[in-house]
Amino acid sequence: RAKAQGSGHWTAHRPGDSDPGADRLLLLEQLRSGIREGELRVHYQPRQHLPTGQLSGVEALVRWQHPTRGLLQPAAFIDAAEQSGIIRELGAWVLTEAVEQAVRWDAAGGPAGLQTAVNLSARQLADPDLVPLVARTLARAGLPASRLVLEITETALMTDPDAALASLQALKALGVLLAVDDFGTGFSSFTYLKRFPVDELKIDRSFVTGMTTDAGDHAIVASCVHLAHAMGLVAVAEGVETAAERDALRALGADQAQGYFFSRPVPASALLPEPADVPG
Ligand code: C2E
Ligand code: MG
Ligand code: MG
Ligand code: MG
Repeated sequence: RAKAQGSGHWTAHRPGDSDPGADRLLLLEQLRSGIREGELRVHYQPRQHLPTGQLSGVEALVRWQHPTRGLLQPAAFIDAAEQSGIIRELGAWVLTEAVEQAVRWDAAGGPAGLQTAVNLSARQLADPDLVPLVARTLARAGLPASRLVLEITETALMTDPDAALASLQALKALGVLLAVDDFGTGFSSFTYLKRFPVDELKIDRSFVTGMTTDAGDHAIVASCVHLAHAMGLVAVAEGVETAAERDALRALGADQAQGYFFSRPVPASALLPEPADVPG
């Protein structure tokens, strides 16, 4: 990418110059090669069963160990990956890594039936190769489909709800579990919510954050829990940061919770033991 200078010379664009389009292209180029070079990481955030406090599952969250900028959070690259289509390679990599990690935890004697949740974007949901990819990934690793939860944001589901419905039905037929992520922020219509074959509602962090200080947020969380249960779905709260929030969620009968109060997302090795190397 070249850029005009006042003097009439042309110089290569450098990151940090005020040209967001060029910065984005550079980032995507780096991400494309970063995926190939093994720079992506998956961190895992535990999820707990509220009535017992037991670990019920983990959510896989992607990070990028950038060669010069350090460990990048999804906010720095997911939107660009989604818009460019690189999300397909990124998503396939995360899915494979998370499914293989679940099998490694089983081999190490991790908790029985631990569920692994993986996020899917709107673009992935619309990809005709998604269902075969999920089927192939589970079969190769030897993980039962019922151990995988696919999280799709309410906004992604409502981008093209009829197409989403068909994809969800095909995924459901594999036996995986489906969760509506960031529930409450995406203008779902109840008509679709009723038709989508989902298993869980993940109540958005913004409502959980306010629920102990704001009566409106508390009412919204309470309604989401009731709605989930009335529809036969599991109610999961995200973004729990305090004991007061955890207690309030328990009092409302929420099933599961996730948040910094329990643990931040961490590398696999920090969460559960790795299988011991077999000597000899
Ligand atoms: P999400 O799926 O709703 O994931 C929850 C986000 O909230 C994570 O941010 C997590 O670190 C953060 N979080 C969890 N507990 C707390 C808390 O108590 N307080 C606060 N302030 N934050 C909390 P993260 O890892 O930065 O991911 C952001 C979003 O990026 C995710 O939101 C998800 O939409 C997307 N994402 C992450 N990994 C992937 C991926 O592999 N594929 C796709 N398509 N999207 C991904
Ligand atoms: Mg999620
Ligand atoms: Mg969420
Ligand atoms: Mg989110």
